[in-house]
Amino acid sequence: MEHSNNRRNFMATSIQSVGLAALGGMLWSGYADSVKASPLVLRPPGALAEKDFLAACIKCGLCAEACVNRDTNVDKETGLQRPGTLQMAKGGDTLLIGTPFFVPTEIPCYMCEEIPCVPVCPSGALDMPSLLNEKQELDINKSSMGLAIVHKESCIAFWGIQCDACYRACPLLDVAITLEYQKNDRTGKHAFLLPVVQDSACTGCGLCEKACVTEEPAIFVLPNVVAKGKAGDHYVRGWDEKDQERVKNAISKETRTELSKKTANDYLNMEVEY
Ligand code: SF4
Ligand code: SF4
Repeated sequence: MEHSNNRRNFMATSIQSVGLAALGGMLWSGYADSVKASPLVLRPPGALAEKDFLAACIKCGLCAEACVNRDTNVDKETGLQRPGTLQMAKGGDTLLIGTPFFVPTEIPCYMCEEIPCVPVCPSGALDMPSLLNEKQELDINKSSMGLAIVHKESCIAFWGIQCDACYRACPLLDVAITLEYQKNDRTGKHAFLLPVVQDSACTGCGLCEKACVTEEPAIFVLPNVVAKGKAGDHYVRGWDEKDQERVKNAISKETRTELSKKTANDYLNMEVEY
């Protein structure tokens, strides 16, 4: 039975992690430090920032179990449960053993409306309040598992070939990915129809990555910490009142670097001896 196999795998994983922990704090923390170095992991909806997530997650596997057992995860033809989106890291993975993750090219997150993986988390590693909307209801659209990035060189829409596979696969149709018309100057008579990811709406579910038609996906999800830059607090949007408010108590600091008193050497005009 698939399900009992999953359970067995999960038990084996738990025993592995208990066994490893018993090897001694130093060995475990050395191991934990080395695997923590992998920033390319996608965590379940509502996961805390990676460092806090790793500290909070007790590696119980309840999220992965809820994911595999969700009502919509039954094969219509066989009536059997299909593999879940969430996997638990095993020995040999470059992730902390026993922590949940997903790989969109294998199985993306299906953005279940009731988000069964989150309320079962007993540790707070999956943070329910972060997924509540204005009506205080769980809302999967509030999740931010990562950000989809389009690689323009390999996306065939940027070559002028008509393709909207990612746009159509997105559960937030025309919101998280929009299509932008652009004149094709090369032919002079056609238009490009370009997928554009909207940062504020993309949840990082990976359905677009799974649907992409290119040999290696031209659109792929990266964890926020890798995909997003940070302008820093000293840059302010002058046209945005809220942004102005953010820095209203800011104190300016001036840094002076003393100029060198040494005379400069003019190497270009110096006689060089060979
Ligand atoms: S929301 Fe995503 S990760 Fe959670 S149970 Fe559904 S498919 Fe699995
Ligand atoms: S349910 Fe929570 S504590 Fe348990 S493995 Fe999943 S994230 Fe970690």
